[in-house]
Amino acid sequence: MANTVSTVHLPDGEAIPKLGQGTWEMGERPSARKAEIAALREGVELGMTLIDTAEMYGDGKSEQLIAEALGDVRDDIFIVSKVYPHNGSERGVQAACERSLKRLATDRIDLYLLHWRGGEDLQGVVAGFEKLKRDGKIRHWGVSNFDTDDMEELFALDGGDACATDQILYNVARRGSEFDLLPWLREHRLPAMAYSPVDHARLPRGGALEAIASARGVSAFQVALAWVLQQPGVFAIPKAADVAHVRENRAALDIRLSAEELADIDQQFKPPTRKRGLEML
Ligand code: NAP
Repeated sequence: MANTVSTVHLPDGEAIPKLGQGTWEMGERPSARKAEIAALREGVELGMTLIDTAEMYGDGKSEQLIAEALGDVRDDIFIVSKVYPHNGSERGVQAACERSLKRLATDRIDLYLLHWRGGEDLQGVVAGFEKLKRDGKIRHWGVSNFDTDDMEELFALDGGDACATDQILYNVARRGSEFDLLPWLREHRLPAMAYSPVDHARLPRGGALEAIASARGVSAFQVALAWVLQQPGVFAIPKAADVAHVRENRAALDIRLSAEELADIDQQFKPPTRKRGLEML
């Protein structure tokens, strides 16, 4: 690899990049394919080797795009994929995983997540994930969109504490998890994977982010991403189909916000003072 980025650790001690790449809404439009492949390859060149996808994204087209874009560097990347809750049973997750492996043109998924809660058999999911691990089809498993009570429920199940991460909506404008979920994850030594770290490009204009950005000669997106990356035990998967955005996102990892800048951000985007249900996109 030409470049590396700083890392966070999974509970078993494996180091993974603190900054990866999301792929939701990629692989769906033939006219965008060339640019998307260039963006993913540039990100990997810059050390953003953790790639997030899901069977849901474009009905498998995102997984196929990853195979096409990064098949030749498979051993240098860390693939995260997700299973629908309607496939959430011991047999269902194994069958879904086989389909994802085929689309990804690989023999293993590095981290396999239950996408959200929705009528799944959670004990069956854990059993299916553990079987996939024993068979070498996945290396780690985790969950997504699990709130604190969901994590408690998971950890009470047989084998549930083998969970490696919780992928959650987390950015300056969506801070509810700071009240109890992020402390819970830190206490259990699980890194939190922040999705939509720039709020799906919907962050409010003006205000603290833009003031800090213009003083530093960077963009408000980079300030928002730097803020997420500065949170302890958090790693992030921004999606960027534009090579220039990919480069900016990599550069955001090197921005260290000062105490004063963090306080300005807190003024506009207040930390939670009470429990709120986990938001999801
Ligand atoms: P996001 O990463 O917060 O935002 C993506 C949007 O921001 C795109 O429109 C992108 O534009 C733009 N962008 C990215 N970097 C930028 C920059 N430096 N300057 C200007 N614009 C920039 O939103 P997301 O895609 O919702 O979340 C990221 C990933 O998390 C997803 O792709 C997916 O892998 C995962 N996710 C998971 C869940 C879940 O339920 N587990 C839910 C949502 C997302 P361009 O594409 O034009 O570069």
